[in-house]
Amino acid sequence: MKTRDRLRIAMQKSGRLTEPALELLTRCGLTFRQSRDKLFCFGEGEPVDLLLVRDDDIPGLIAQGVCDLGIVGRNVLSEFQLTAGHELAPLSELRPLGFGRCRLSIAVPQELDYHAPQQLEGRRIATSYPGLLGEWLRTHAVNAGVVILAGSVEIAPKLGTADAICDLVQSGGTLVANQLREAEVLLESEAVLAGPLTLPVDERGDMLELLLKRLDGVIQVRESRLLLLQTSRHTLEAVTRLLPGGPQPTLLSVAGQPDQLMLQALCAGEVSWRQLEEIKKAGAREMYVLPVEKMLA
Ligand code: ATP
Ligand code: ZN
Repeated sequence: MKTRDRLRIAMQKSGRLTEPALELLTRCGLTFRQSRDKLFCFGEGEPVDLLLVRDDDIPGLIAQGVCDLGIVGRNVLSEFQLTAGHELAPLSELRPLGFGRCRLSIAVPQELDYHAPQQLEGRRIATSYPGLLGEWLRTHAVNAGVVILAGSVEIAPKLGTADAICDLVQSGGTLVANQLREAEVLLESEAVLAGPLTLPVDERGDMLELLLKRLDGVIQVRESRLLLLQTSRHTLEAVTRLLPGGPQPTLLSVAGQPDQLMLQALCAGEVSWRQLEEIKKAGAREMYVLPVEKMLA
């Protein structure tokens, strides 16, 4: 295959993953000039270009070597891994990206008193994910008919073309609207960075490594908060005990107040009002919670 010296990332052209994926790449310092047909975006600063496609095509484009990386739901990637022909290169999930969260679930009519997979024996289940559903059915030794539908899976039971469905669920609102309820979760999904099992060992490989480092920084700080507070030395222990997880806090002395300390702690996630109130009760004051903009470990 012809070698390329620029990295090419496939992502969804228009859909749920488009905005958050673009935002993530922008945060990694990548900027793009959108071409007129909006299929190919040329990267301006770094040698990284985008290919905007239907999400279902992304794993195949990576497996064929047309793209080096892709941002796609784990549901689509896993389904591809299970159903793609063996002639295609296997893919790997390089990083979970923390957006586009949903789950692939089996849902049954509300009136069915569901409690075990065996109740699906002999039933017809409609899905766009025959690979993942088939694997689950085999694992649970259930013989069920799989009705493959490209879309509008949730109305199949009402139409009488299936007895149950296996589809993506986020809030569950669509299920309720169709008198269905979630019975089994087959896969917890989110957007992931997908790539080949073996990474290229040329300039693209170097760029890819750099991008992964930036991604790790962005993902880590997206949830991180910097907590600043003041405490006296005798309440320090009680305050420290209540700090949300993260590395050891930094202590600074306060000029002219030998008993006072300023404490600085990086917290792995959101710090709630409730947590702040508890820490304050233990003796802290002047508390600030700051978002973290960038981080390079
Ligand atoms: P296209 O094939 O045109 O790219 P699509 O209709 O297959 O678009 P979207 O509905 O935009 O795709 O969903 C893209 C991905 O978003 C899904 O594969 C899944 O990983 C994730 N997702 C998150 N929540 C949901 C949800 N409630 N329903 C469907 N997908 C969801
Ligand atoms: Zn799709």
